[in-house]
Amino acid sequence: MVAPHQIEIPKELARLLAGRQELIRATKGFMPQDEGKALALALYDCDLPNDVPAVEIGSYIGLSTIYLGTVAKEQMRPLVSVDHHRGSQENQAGWEYHDPTLVDPISGKMDTLYLFRRTLELAQLADTVIIAVADSQTFAKAFSGEIGFLFIDGGHGIDEARTDYESWVPKITQGGHLAIHDVFPDPALGGQAPFLLYQRALVEGFRETIAQGSLRVMRKDSK
Ligand code: MG
Repeated sequence: MVAPHQIEIPKELARLLAGRQELIRATKGFMPQDEGKALALALYDCDLPNDVPAVEIGSYIGLSTIYLGTVAKEQMRPLVSVDHHRGSQENQAGWEYHDPTLVDPISGKMDTLYLFRRTLELAQLADTVIIAVADSQTFAKAFSGEIGFLFIDGGHGIDEARTDYESWVPKITQGGHLAIHDVFPDPALGGQAPFLLYQRALVEGFRETIAQGSLRVMRKDSK
């Protein structure tokens, strides 16, 4: 059992995020503010050179991207946000997190891309965030090189989550961070796929640095 970590947001980071409050409140998503701040802190703590990019798997409309992008912009670090923008399984019609207003009436499919782009525009992050409209596994094959920070918040099914992990975690450089959202040790509180990734990372050379709500952040300390 890992002891709870006290999250303390440095003044400079608090100031940066304060400027985003209105937009954060107005943006749809599944990221409580305390977890968003902890996510921003995780990237803020990344002391790797700023040519080592950060990667987010699962953009949706960009709520978590506001938190990460605000820090990435300050670090002058590229943030690559990967999403096919057709919604995860749990966002589809008939599932728990479906929002019918996000269905494109022409294609009949979910489309979060234009809203994501709007969020980046409003957050003045269009120059910081590289939008990758792709399946994460496919894109990973075309993405060589190391990454300094990875946030996994894509498909929450067992197979999708494992694929995201296996496609991207090996790209994290020594001293880089892995953040995973929706980690619920208690199955009564949520699906187990992210929790399985978290457990796997802990036995594959990652050490936990932040736990806030269902967010877990770990640092890669050894191969
Ligand atoms: Mg999530």
